[in-house]
Amino acid sequence: MDQQLDTPLLAFDPTDPVALTQALVRCPSVTPAEGGALALLATVLASAGYSVHRPVFSADGMPDIENLYARIGTEGPVLVIAGHSDVVPVGDAEAWTRDPFGGVIVDGVLYGRGACDMKGGLAAMISAALRFRRDNPQAPGSIAFLITGDEEGPAINGTIKLLAWAQSRGERFDHCLLGEPTNPASMSDMIKIGRRGSLTGKLTVNGKQGHVGYPHLADNPIRGMVRLLAALDATPLDGGTTHFDPSNLEVTTLDVGNPSSNVVPAQAKAVFNIRFNDSWTPETLAAEIERRLREAAGNLVRYELAFQPTNAVAFLTEPGPFVTMVADAVEAETGKRPALSTTGGTSDARFIKNYCPVVEYGVVGQTMHQIDERVAVADLTALERITHRLLDSYFALQHKP
Ligand SMILES: [Zn+2]
Repeated sequence: MDQQLDTPLLAFDPTDPVALTQALVRCPSVTPAEGGALALLATVLASAGYSVHRPVFSADGMPDIENLYARIGTEGPVLVIAGHSDVVPVGDAEAWTRDPFGGVIVDGVLYGRGACDMKGGLAAMISAALRFRRDNPQAPGSIAFLITGDEEGPAINGTIKLLAWAQSRGERFDHCLLGEPTNPASMSDMIKIGRRGSLTGKLTVNGKQGHVGYPHLADNPIRGMVRLLAALDATPLDGGTTHFDPSNLEVTTLDVGNPSSNVVPAQAKAVFNIRFNDSWTPETLAAEIERRLREAAGNLVRYELAFQPTNAVAFLTEPGPFVTMVADAVEAETGKRPALSTTGGTSDARFIKNYCPVVEYGVVGQTMHQIDERVAVADLTALERITHRLLDSYFALQHKP
């Protein structure tokens, strides 16, 4: 549903990425709370001439989630800038040295939950888009914003539904820039052009409980579990691909829960997670894991294997003109060409890639989800300039700093 928007005067200039980041950080938008963040962005964008929608999505047993879609321009090409306004919880509030929702700046560093993940990135890109259209009111094409309040939560009522909602209204996107914090240490480090997939498996080995002194009357499942896990680890899953590291399997827990040293337990359980590259789909990878376990088990080990459903497939945005354009903008403003990377966890890019090519670039993510999350003011202004430069080249206009 769309809300009637009022557009009160703002107390700050939204083309200033630092002021906009501060205003956003002051909205306590811990998932699923909107916290005033989307209302603020709706006001900012509507005041700048964007048509703004605030669809709310629901699902059984989950809190309703507010989202935002905004667009300026009616023609193509359409560049969509994506992001999330929700943040993870503060954690131990006493451990913060600054108010997590204060947005205070100390020695050139802006503190607060979401400062780098990703209110800072979102604010810098919005500021750049506003300045771009202010200076080029006749600019060709369209800029759209796709902003969810459900990225840090279950991600059920967020980007997936917002994309489908936009498509059902006839919206089409040519390219997407997602403002997640991609840089490990400095603004020239890294653009993400893809993400690995994620697959979680649960392995249970069944034995027979008994007295350790009478092992012939028992069947120790730990022996079988060790054998199966060794088989999973024995050979690398692959050697990596052109743009991806080798796929990696980590056993994340191994549980027997046996309090006694003279009892053979009845059951052993393990969970593993695989971060896989573009040589696999979840299905082909599951089949390979099943094959390895079957071979290792023979008819000696009785086991069960279950995979959690996953929507995290590996994907790649092939390097091409759009990727080059983003890298050029970063290099022009920082003096260094960023790496094209596919490392790290999953992001909403895995949903967006079904609609248009997506590239991720944002501020330095060193403190994301941490106590004293923060972003350098200089990085916010750099990201605003980089985005502005990208908009100039995307819409083929002469760059005016
Ligand atoms: Zn994020």
